[in-house]
Amino acid sequence: MTRLQPAVALCALLVATSAAAATRIAIPGGEINVEFADESAGPDRAMVLAWVKTSAEAVVTYYGHFPVRSVDLRIMPGSGSGVSGGRTWAHRGAEIRIRVGKSTSESDLKNDWVLVHEMTHLAFPSLGDEHDWLEEGLATYVESIARAQAGQLSLERVWDGFVDGMPNGLPQAGDRGLDRTHTWGRTYWGGALFCLLADLEIRRRTDNRLGLQEALRAILAAGSMETNSELAPLLAIGDRAVGVPVLSELYGRMKDTPAPTDLAALWQRLGIERAGGNVRFVEDAPEAAIRRAITMRRN
Ligand SMILES: [Zn+2]
Repeated sequence: MTRLQPAVALCALLVATSAAAATRIAIPGGEINVEFADESAGPDRAMVLAWVKTSAEAVVTYYGHFPVRSVDLRIMPGSGSGVSGGRTWAHRGAEIRIRVGKSTSESDLKNDWVLVHEMTHLAFPSLGDEHDWLEEGLATYVESIARAQAGQLSLERVWDGFVDGMPNGLPQAGDRGLDRTHTWGRTYWGGALFCLLADLEIRRRTDNRLGLQEALRAILAAGSMETNSELAPLLAIGDRAVGVPVLSELYGRMKDTPAPTDLAALWQRLGIERAGGNVRFVEDAPEAAIRRAITMRRN
């Protein structure tokens, strides 16, 4: 399973089932009520609960606390092994459904990114459909950085994933900008590219003191996924938090025009090189300090 496959990245709709007894997991800022939809089968419960807690810890690390006071997390049974799809709602209380295969192992869950992606959705207000790219892009971008900050993912894997994934987000022929081009690549990775560009530019303009993370924490303080919002006021909140209008400017540039990015030059400035299928960091590259700051754990 790779995040490049649309079937995995798209938050697949899962079928509702009858309620079962929930296990409550307390985390800083909130609680997760975990329900196993199929009581009779599936992977080891304790292993699944540990994975839920670990995933929540990554999100808490990034945002400073869990995004919502309470979320119901329904574990749906799946065939085979691994996590095969998830979806998050917040219109009648926050709820995540995620499908976990019967023969899922501890190492499958250790490598899973889907649950952190879904939990990240909780941390941003709900937008109109034309802005799905930002909701999905944020979850795609924040997920691996959050796991790295929490010590759950190596820095090499974070940047390797971005070097692999970001080209999917580049505009193709006929592109009309992020608000008007709703392909899989532009939605997930075009949105993630917007986040990366914003993060870099905020850091350039603040002497590398602040980044997208500070803007996103301020936006979450204004409302979680349980709140509906227009996009412009949220970007303004983020811009005010970091003192530079990067989010509004970048949105203006990318919303209805293709706005291509030279990714090769961007990786080079950050000091990211591919060697023999692995990522190697060049620590004296012009923006290596920015790259290091992005994955550094905050207070
Ligand atoms: Zn998603």
